[in-house]
This record gives sequence, structure tokens and C-alpha cells, in this order.
Amino acid sequence: MARIVFMNDRLVPEDEARVSVFDHGLLYGDGVFEGMRSYSGRVFRLDAHIDRLWESAQAICLKIPLTKEAVAQAVNETLAANGLTDGYVRLLVTRGAGTLGLDPNRTKNPQVIVIADTISLYPREHYEKGLRIVTAATQRTQAAALSPRIKSLNYLNNIMAKLEGLQAGCVEALMLNHKGEVAECTGDNIFVVRKGLLLTPPPDAGILEGITRGAVMDLARSAGIDCREATLTRHDLYTAEECFLTGTAAEVIPVVEIDGRSIGTGRPGPVTAKLLAAFHALVRQ
Ligand code: PMP
Repeated sequence: MARIVFMNDRLVPEDEARVSVFDHGLLYGDGVFEGMRSYSGRVFRLDAHIDRLWESAQAICLKIPLTKEAVAQAVNETLAANGLTDGYVRLLVTRGAGTLGLDPNRTKNPQVIVIADTISLYPREHYEKGLRIVTAATQRTQAAALSPRIKSLNYLNNIMAKLEGLQAGCVEALMLNHKGEVAECTGDNIFVVRKGLLLTPPPDAGILEGITRGAVMDLARSAGIDCREATLTRHDLYTAEECFLTGTAAEVIPVVEIDGRSIGTGRPGPVTAKLLAAFHALVRQ
């Protein structure tokens, strides 16, 4: 069945949803995006995703030609038009069509696009048994080069690391920053349990501040789990009691092996299980 896509001001069938070959989103990855998920007809933390989109756009001097309210409405309408109550939404804003040069001031008509689809989940087995991951040699882009806090259409840094993970037979890969500290995975944030504390790298480690990450930190605190942002090395991960990843698509997923080291008991741990259950309860509230 053909999907219905929101383009700028209206819903159109997917084969009419087209962008110019001169769009700088295509030519240069010049644009920003969000990935969201709806549960039982409600988008989880829609406002937080829209705020993050606006922050990303602000950081690249891209003026989104709609209001936040109109974009939120477009997200809900696109889900409804596709008959999706539990789905995945990709919201993007491109710089618009311009010249073949880089100059963003010579572009016009930023494109606001909303695509809704069914969610493709990691196999159930990954949640039950946990993931194996490896460290990618590709470092996370330095904030001084391009802030990882901007969710831009240029994901090559992450894709390079993802390729390394896939080549090693892993669906995710760990990325370190230029100082060799743990940053995040290619599309997920990372947490460890060490000596009873729940730890995750701070924003200045060079991460995207995940909305799932924020929700899990809040859930942990409500459950009386001491959760802190901390600079982490691979040694901290290798010697952790538990490890898990968070992200919109993955939700909360256990990691049981990193670079061939078995983490904790080698099976998903109790803190991970508790937070996964709490997260499921939260999104279905
Ligand atoms: N880090 C990166 C690099 C990501 O692309 C994402 C989202 N796909 C995340 C972390 C997780 O963020 P969120 O919980 O907001 O989906």
C-alpha cells in the first residue's frame, strides 16, 4: 500500500513526495531530522523531539518555515493518514534547492517532510539474550568540528562506524571520542551499571542527547537507582556489571559482550530488566 507523506503544507501519496536534485539536503546533507515513535496513537515525547529539531535547525542557521504547533500537527496527521497507531515517524527539514555551491544563503524553500512507517524492530532474541557490540575505529566527530548534538542529515560519521560493526557481525558499534572516551553507539546512547551506580557519558563526551536517554535517567531516579553522567573509558565498560543502549527505535536493549569481553554475568542484568519494564510502562501510559 502506498504511504502518505507530508510535504510542506499537505499530505501527498509517496510517489508525489519529491525533492529537487538541487536540494542541499541531498547535495550536502544540509538539513536536520528527528526519528520518533508512536505508541497506541500517541507520539512519545513529541514536544521534546520538536524542540530538539528546532535546536538543531538553530545551530545550522536553518529557519523552519512552519510553527512548532503546525509541525506537531503534521506528525499526527501523517500517522493518522497512514492508519498507524504504533509506528515510526521520520521528520526532516532540508535546506531547500540552491546552486551547486555550498552557500546556504543561495537556497530557497526548505522542505519539511514527515514520513510515517511501521517500526522495524531488533529481533526479540536481542532483548532476551542481549547484544554483542564492538568498538569502531571511526571516532565520533569532535564537537569543535561538528557538534554531535545537532541531529543533521549528515550521518556518515555514524554510518562509517556502523559498517565496522556490521563487518564484525554486530548490529551496533561503540564510538569513542577523540580523547578515547566512550561517547555513544552509532544510533543509540549507552549506559553501564558499575558498583551499583547507573552511569552514562555526559553531553560533552560528544553525544546526541537522546530523548530515550533522558527518559531512562528520569525512570532510574524515580526507581531509586543512583544515575549519573560520567566520563567513561572502555575499561569501565569491560568491567561493568551491566550495559544497555537506549534509542527511539531500540528503546532499552541489553549489551552482554563488548570487544569479546563478556559483561557481568554475560546475560541481561536486573537493572536493565527493571528499566526496560519501566520504559515499556511509560510509553504505554
Ligand atoms: N545517538 C545517536 C547518534 C542517534 O542517532 C540516536 C537516535 N537515533 C540516539 C543516540 C538516541 O536518541 P533518541 O533516544 O532521541 O532516539
